[in-house]
Amino acid sequence: MQSAKTDPKMVSILGATGSVGQSSLDMIAAAPERYQIHALTAHSNVKALAQAALAHDAKFVAIGDETLYAELKDLLSGHAIELAAGEQGLLEAASRQTDIVIGAIVGAAGIRPTMAALQAGNQVALANKEALVCAGDVIMAEAKRQDLRILPVDSEHNAIFQIFEEANIDEIDEVIITASGGPFRQWSLDAIERATAEQALKHPNWDMGAKVTIDSASMMNKGLEVIEAHHLYKISQDKFSVVVHPQSAIHGLVRYSDGSLLAHMGAPDMCIPIAHCLAWPERASAPTKRLDLVTLGQMTFEAPDLVRFPCLRLALEAMKHGGNLPNIMNAANEVAVAAFLAGNITFGGIPRLVEAVMDKMAEQGCLPVSDLDLVLEVDREARGYARDHLPHLCH
Ligand code: NAD
Ligand code: MG
Repeated sequence: MQSAKTDPKMVSILGATGSVGQSSLDMIAAAPERYQIHALTAHSNVKALAQAALAHDAKFVAIGDETLYAELKDLLSGHAIELAAGEQGLLEAASRQTDIVIGAIVGAAGIRPTMAALQAGNQVALANKEALVCAGDVIMAEAKRQDLRILPVDSEHNAIFQIFEEANIDEIDEVIITASGGPFRQWSLDAIERATAEQALKHPNWDMGAKVTIDSASMMNKGLEVIEAHHLYKISQDKFSVVVHPQSAIHGLVRYSDGSLLAHMGAPDMCIPIAHCLAWPERASAPTKRLDLVTLGQMTFEAPDLVRFPCLRLALEAMKHGGNLPNIMNAANEVAVAAFLAGNITFGGIPRLVEAVMDKMAEQGCLPVSDLDLVLEVDREARGYARDHLPHLCH
């Protein structure tokens, strides 16, 4: 019997030129009978964006930085591709009707496009954890209103998604998010404080964009991920925990009340969760890396050290406090990471700046995250405080 041929799924990628964006394009190129590109966006890498648009026969392309619109037009002249620029362009790309929108923008810049994709009724596969950290309540409410599931691309959340039994949610005792521990796992506090950007950018297991790599070195990434998980999986905060697992073979675990502890394993390759999201609710073969257990040999686990990694402590405190404190913390962290990469502050300056901004703004009381305009206003205000405070930390 001949199997019925189905149309390919149409996919848009927000942040197509980044690490997750490029891995997504690779997965799509490997299965052209299953997936086709609709819209692509990038912030400023206009050449890579144009190249991806031509290679993947995109129908709509948007560049965030409006000053690069003329160059984009030039690069794509003679091709029947609709072009746009600026925030409106990004929002239109997100709103175009597709089967799936991959949210792979880095930072709070992804909040509005993620929301626009959902408001248009598009299924979202989300890598952009900062969108949930800052605006999780608003974004999850919109997904619910639209009767859409946010598919987690972040490897730990995708792992949990695959083993989280929603029907037995009351019997879930614990959700464990693993962390590689990053390049400074065994460093002293003093050495971590003085780490250079070159050292922080050398992640032992994962190949990622600069911001998330620095966040992994400070373990802020794990803190952002616990907050992200709390929005995605509606169980109480005290059921989430972090375990350092340097081999990055297990990505997430769920413990049930009968004593079962389910783990999701795989090679540290973002193509695996991306392939899972693209095919969901089905599964489809994908040219991803395979985890060989004998080569792996052994797995080890440690408790995270909140003294040497104060960013993780700050993120857990922000989650516990709730309201818009995670929103404030994220903005301060984005300013701090950029300042560190620019050579303006030390690695130890990152948590100091984040804590100073959190303390300052918490004095005013932390409001609930009720709408997107408020989230973006708080984001701007916290960035302002962070920039004002930077000179105190500059070396
Ligand atoms: P990246 O820096 O490699 O790419 C970021 C993308 O976002 C680029 O396409 C860039 O053009 C776009 N972008 C940047 N600033 C923008 C702005 N102001 N407006 C619009 N677009 C903008 O980042 P990445 O490593 O691919 O990570 C993307 C997101 O996925 C982050 O939130 C990260 O935490 C998350 N994530 C990444 C990985 C990974 O392996 N890289 C794994 C898990 C989760
Ligand atoms: Mg992750």
